[in-house]
Amino acid sequence: MKPFPPYRIQVVKEIPITTRQQREEALARASYNAFDLPSNMVTIDLLTDSGTGAVSAAQEAAAAQADRSYAGSDSYYRFRRALDDLTSYPHIFPVHQGRAAERVLFSSVLKPGQISLSNTHFDTTRANVELLGAEARDLPCPEFGDLSSQEPFKGNIDLEALEAILRGPERERVGQVLITITNNGGGGQPVSMANLRAVRALCDRYGVPFFLDAARFAENSWLVVQREPGYGHLTPREVARQTFALADGCVASLKKDAIAPMGAVIGVRDPELAKQCEANLIATEGFRTYGGLAAHDLERVAQGIEEVLDPNYLRSREADAAYFAELVTNAGVDIVQPPGIHALYLNAGRLLPHIPPHGFPGHALACEMYLTGGVRCVELGSLYLGKFDENHNLIEPAPFELVRMAIPRRTYTQAHLEYVADVLADIAKNPDRVASYRVVDAPKLLRHFNLKLERIPAGS
Ligand SMILES: *Cc1c(COP(=O)(O)O)cnc(C)c1O
Repeated sequence: MKPFPPYRIQVVKEIPITTRQQREEALARASYNAFDLPSNMVTIDLLTDSGTGAVSAAQEAAAAQADRSYAGSDSYYRFRRALDDLTSYPHIFPVHQGRAAERVLFSSVLKPGQISLSNTHFDTTRANVELLGAEARDLPCPEFGDLSSQEPFKGNIDLEALEAILRGPERERVGQVLITITNNGGGGQPVSMANLRAVRALCDRYGVPFFLDAARFAENSWLVVQREPGYGHLTPREVARQTFALADGCVASLKKDAIAPMGAVIGVRDPELAKQCEANLIATEGFRTYGGLAAHDLERVAQGIEEVLDPNYLRSREADAAYFAELVTNAGVDIVQPPGIHALYLNAGRLLPHIPPHGFPGHALACEMYLTGGVRCVELGSLYLGKFDENHNLIEPAPFELVRMAIPRRTYTQAHLEYVADVLADIAKNPDRVASYRVVDAPKLLRHFNLKLERIPAGS
């Protein structure tokens, strides 16, 4: 029998239906940057799965009971219990979102000139490493280099490259190893337990702290249950516990797998590190029992962690992503294989060979999806990851020209996904008409959030 969602829809929100003319105008007003589009001009919003999931009646009921005491509120203890049960970390701090967790933890761990090694640093994670004067270096596994291969754990870190650095002269400069599960900057691919165990062993041997960026801890655990030999008999919660137990601590945005509108957590084992984090947290985010969150957020997180680990939910969410992947592939658009759970990554470079990297095929496809059907998603290609000179000319393209279609949790039905696939089929029928783009303005840090672009009409 096909998996189905273990809930029914009880509250809905209307979505905007627009004309092509309205979308043309809105996108031009936004300087062709989807982050500057007002959401009332977006029909299907696949920009992110962060904070966009539908909350449950149980989450809202818990939120209504929230205790807003400044110190030691009931809501904090409920949050603590949910995270104590999952992670084995003796020190747990709530934070308002993932990037704040990164700033607070990294500023206690990393010094200027040090290196942070990762399977792939997510954008804000990289920014928080670089803001401290440290270097963020990505070591994705070689299997990720073949977008079409069916290797089950293409989110792994390259263990040989990691060991080479730890064995070599740069060892003294390595401040941390950070593994992102699932690998959001790397096709949303999962990381295997075998890879995490090997990272643990290397970090022990060379005396380097090992942290998780665990925004999608439940989805990674589910894919381990499905794909990794020896784990099929475990529950996702059991795998998640084993995962957290391997690391010295974590940062995790809880806007993803806690299905909460806001929230994050820092977990650490080392009491000295915990003291530093706590001082920083109190000075900049909030007291240790709320960390910048409202009590109702703590409640939604605690309840969301229970719900996300339900195997029926994870099975149905994985099935949605697989169904969406099949529709998109049948529409004539290749994706990064095998599909993960939280997003599909379209291979725009392959679909639009007439657009060179400096015309930004990924961005061109994302814009065309918006113009054709009001679908919003985000480029992960040369625009985001490439290197540019002072005049905004691309001097080093990204290895791939991708577009990420994130799938918000419990939000869209299969009919919405079918609609998006129809939009892609329409574009794939006549890809030559898709125009390329040029950058007219961009900031140095986190460039893709604040870009301004111009369209170069097709054929010119
Ligand atoms: C979303 C995300 C972050 C940042 O979290 P925010 O809550 O958006 O600040 C960090 N790392 C990864 C892997 C993420 O997906």
